[in-house]
Amino acid sequence: MNVSALVLHFSPGFIELAGGMSVALAIRYALTAGLAWCLGYWLFKNRWFHRKIIARFPASSDVRREMAYSASSVVIFAIIGALTVQAARAGWTQMYWRIEDRGWLWFGASILFAILLHDAYFYWTHRLMHHRRLFKTFHRVHHLSHNPTPWAAYSFAPAEAVVEAGIFPLAMFVMPMHPFAFAIFMGWQITFNVVGHTGYEIYPRRMMDTWLGKILNTPTNHAMHHESMRGNYGLYFNFWDRLMGTNHKDYEPRFREVTSRQKAGRKDPAGKAVVS
Ligand SMILES: [Zn+2]
Ligand SMILES: [Zn+2]
Repeated sequence: MNVSALVLHFSPGFIELAGGMSVALAIRYALTAGLAWCLGYWLFKNRWFHRKIIARFPASSDVRREMAYSASSVVIFAIIGALTVQAARAGWTQMYWRIEDRGWLWFGASILFAILLHDAYFYWTHRLMHHRRLFKTFHRVHHLSHNPTPWAAYSFAPAEAVVEAGIFPLAMFVMPMHPFAFAIFMGWQITFNVVGHTGYEIYPRRMMDTWLGKILNTPTNHAMHHESMRGNYGLYFNFWDRLMGTNHKDYEPRFREVTSRQKAGRKDPAGKAVVS
């Protein structure tokens, strides 16, 4: 039995489910990354340039590559998503369908736990994929973006897309989760992921002096990871990088530099012209 026959045998209706999920994921991605793209790379390209972390724009060939790999990731995410939904329907996961079975408190807590679980899952799989024996197969494609755009958010080699999709079955198997709670978690995921790849720093300078700045990851953090390929492995939060000592040593100074720049035509505090 070949793979496609095996999949069809697994469940009739699987192809329709995976196809429907592909369309839904593609629309969600196009809307989120597309909105960020329109704002940062078209409408406010000049007005926001002083907040562009790497002060230049990538070649259009880079953007096309990011879009193409993102499209392939969407299909892989949908296949793994559909397999997980089928497993849930068969009663193999802890997914539950009636909110009142566990109440609203658990509904909210499950979203928070999923975010923390994903943060840990991402950090450790990410560090693993940076191992020299795994990097080429899994993670090289994502790092072809040295100056990422919102379309880099899902720009993964197929092998990495499978790893990234793993959070869906993992969350469903390790804890009871309602599909709506998972959908809210996914809304957080796509928003954070796209913002983290926009290439613009959105947070105020003073945030780094607060507890929030110490725990929340910033677009500067991830842009530096793309720029230098080492350090700053975290996703939503900075605590794994702080705990493991893997923050880039220039992370906080870089955040302060980016967020201190003046708008075009003026000078930064060091007297250098920021934007030509
Ligand atoms: Zn990486
Ligand atoms: Zn990235």
